Amino acid sequence: MDFDKIVGRVQDFPKKGILFYDLMPVFQDPVSFRALIAEMAKPYLSDSIKKVVGIEARGFILGAPIADRIGAGFVPVRKKGKLPGEVSSLSYQLEYGTDTIEVQAGAIKPGDKVLLVDDLLATGGTARAAIDLIKKQGGEVLCVSVAIELTGIGGRERVAPVPIKSILVYP
Ligand code: IMP
Repeated sequence: MDFDKIVGRVQDFPKKGILFYDLMPVFQDPVSFRALIAEMAKPYLSDSIKKVVGIEARGFILGAPIADRIGAGFVPVRKKGKLPGEVSSLSYQLEYGTDTIEVQAGAIKPGDKVLLVDDLLATGGTARAAIDLIKKQGGEVLCVSVAIELTGIGGRERVAPVPIKSILVYP
């Protein structure tokens, strides 16, 4: 399916000078949404993945149905203060300042094989932080699966040696 035709482009969002790739039109269309989930899940149908970890917020929209398809559990990684009970946290550097992500304690068991899912990979900073947080729990990230990968800004290098699987690639 030609997802490229359906992905929206919003210039100057969320800040001036940024071209934002918008997957909402794909999610809104039942045929495209199902096809995207099927394509992202396909490589892992016979893998022994225990948990799909989705990154807030669009990683939830993709990650939960992928988990269902491959027979894995779903675990959300959220911004600080959103998850109830005991959590494990990790702070990471942004262009300006820092951000903190959290996962519920015990959501990932030592030795769990994990597929990390998000809508888009840019610099790889978010995925790197999530990988490190999963590692802190003893989980092993087999792959990062994204709908869109932006190249030329170091995403793959930052996430390495974990491989990245993307459906659409934009320079
Ligand atoms: P990174 O940490 O620089 O790789 O940025 C990736 C994170 O920012 C992901 O969680 C994305 O949801 C979000 N993001 C960055 N740019 C875009 C975009 O153009 N469209 C949708 N999400 C984006």
